[in-house]
Amino acid sequence: MIFPTQYNEVLNRIEQVDPIAYGRSRNFVDGAVTYLSPYISRGVISTKQVLHSVFGRGYNPEKIKKFIQELAWRDYWQQVWIHKGSAIEKDLLHPQPGFDNHQLAISIIRAETGIHAIDTAIETFYETGYLHNHVRMYVAAMACNLGRSHWKAPARWMYHHLLDGDWASNALSWQWVAGSNSRKQYIANQENINRYCHSQQRGTFLDKPYSRLLTDPKPEALGPLADLELTTKLPKTTPPEIDAELPTLIYNYYNLDPRWHVEMKANRVLLLEPEVFSKYPVSESCIRFVLELAKNIPGIQIFTGSFAALRSHLVRSEIRFKEHPLNQFQGTEEPREWMFETTGYFRSFFAFWKRCERESR
Ligand SMILES: Cc1cc2nc3c(=O)[nH]c(=O)nc-3n(C[C@H](O)[C@H](O)[C@H](O)COP(=O)(O)OP(=O)(O)OC[C@H]3O[C@@H](n4cnc5c(N)ncnc54)[C@H](O)[C@@H]3O)c2cc1C
Repeated sequence: MIFPTQYNEVLNRIEQVDPIAYGRSRNFVDGAVTYLSPYISRGVISTKQVLHSVFGRGYNPEKIKKFIQELAWRDYWQQVWIHKGSAIEKDLLHPQPGFDNHQLAISIIRAETGIHAIDTAIETFYETGYLHNHVRMYVAAMACNLGRSHWKAPARWMYHHLLDGDWASNALSWQWVAGSNSRKQYIANQENINRYCHSQQRGTFLDKPYSRLLTDPKPEALGPLADLELTTKLPKTTPPEIDAELPTLIYNYYNLDPRWHVEMKANRVLLLEPEVFSKYPVSESCIRFVLELAKNIPGIQIFTGSFAALRSHLVRSEIRFKEHPLNQFQGTEEPREWMFETTGYFRSFFAFWKRCERESR
């Protein structure tokens, strides 16, 4: 899977979505998933834009409910981040059961778990920056519920490599699998993996009934652990050239929307804050991806530095930015696009979804 960066190719990809086939096959590794998340996470497109596209092609909302629901998960996790803030950095609803380390199994990092479908997926993940949702769940279950790692270090490892890294979807999904943001831990055995990955492997440490997966001793393959030293290599930049008579639009890792005030005469700056990337490190491929996506925004300048450093170059230019939990800037904050008007914290996705459904009727 490759991820083109030109805006028209991204729009084409939205048009290719088949929400009916999606509902039938999304759990299979070769199912009709959309591969849109890198663009949604980077703020190039919104969930609402995707929804409008499928409605525009005449699909009946009832027939594509599963697809809309999955898109709504994204908005849901973002709402949780907005309303819970730094609380998502820790176990959200209750302590993660049974963990005994804050590292990650070396076999997962090296794609050498012995579970062929998972190892192949992790190898491809390092090449492409993408992992299928079901495989993300399998890996998280192996890391946290069998390898007994606390969710945070493994989540940071996955986020580091994902082109679609979105800390809300990431941290909160890891917590959902690990049982700190759900009622029970998610697990999958070899039979389940074989079914959805089309493999036929037998006799592995996962080849047992569900009742034994959590109670048997830790599998040997998940024993050796490693600390992860994750860093981000940001580009070196020069101070931006600013026309103080024009407003300055600030873009960042989560907002690269080429439509944003497209008609406005403005200074446009992609701000890469070292402090943010030291908290949430990403790979060189992720940075390359973002710099390529930024090319869809005419005249944009890249600035690596803090908001305060950027502001010192802006003189009296009016500052505008889009709302996001990471954007603690001074200036005019503008709303993001959501699929529904329902906002706020809901303890469960289905409580949120019910409100969205009621609203859409
Ligand atoms: C452990 C774990 C970590 C994850 N980390 C991230 C992450 O860092 N960034 C990220 O974008 N997603 C994350 N997800 C959610 C999900 O796996 C991806 O959004 C999805 O696989 C992206 O591929 P796609 O665009 O082909 O999705 P599709 O299945 O085609 O779905 C369409 C869109 O719906 C949304 N969506 C679908 N499923 C989910 C979901 N479970 N949660 C939130 N949104 C969803 C996404 O915006 C996605 O682009 C994670 C899930 C798990 C289990």
